[in-house]
Amino acid sequence: MSTGRALLLIADIGGYTRFMKLHRMNLAHAQESVARLLEAVIDGAPKPLKLSKLEGDAALFYAPLDGQVQDGALARFAAHVLSIRRAFLRRRAEMNLDRVCTCEGCTLVSDLTLKFAIHEGEVGLQRVKRMTELAGWT
Ligand SMILES: [Zn+2]
Repeated sequence: MSTGRALLLIADIGGYTRFMKLHRMNLAHAQESVARLLEAVIDGAPKPLKLSKLEGDAALFYAPLDGQVQDGALARFAAHVLSIRRAFLRRRAEMNLDRVCTCEGCTLVSDLTLKFAIHEGEVGLQRVKRMTELAGWT
C-alpha cells in the first residue's frame, strides 16, 4: 500500500433513497435510471480524477496531489466538478426526452439531483492487479 496526499470527491445522486422507496413496484427501472446517471457521472469525470469505487448511489473519485493544493489546482478541480455536473444534467435531460415508459421509476428521474462532497487529505492506496482503490484517508 502506498500513501500520499489527494483530493477526494464524492458525487452522490440525491433523492435515491426516497426514489427507491416510492417506486418499489418499478424498482428495476429506477435502478436502471440511477445506473445510467452514474455512468454519466463517471464518464464526465476528467483526468486526473480516478474512480475508486461506487457505493450505492454515489461515486468516489480521487486525484493524487504533489504537495499542497495551490489556487490553480483548486480552479482546475472546480472545473472537473462542473464537468461531472454537466454530464449528469445532460444525461438526465436525455433520459427525460427519450423516455417511452410511463412508470414512476422512469417519469420521476427529473427529481434526482447530484451533490458533491470534497475533501483534501492523506490517503492510502491499495493496488490489486490493475485496480487501485482508496484503502483509507484522514
Ligand atoms: Zn419505467
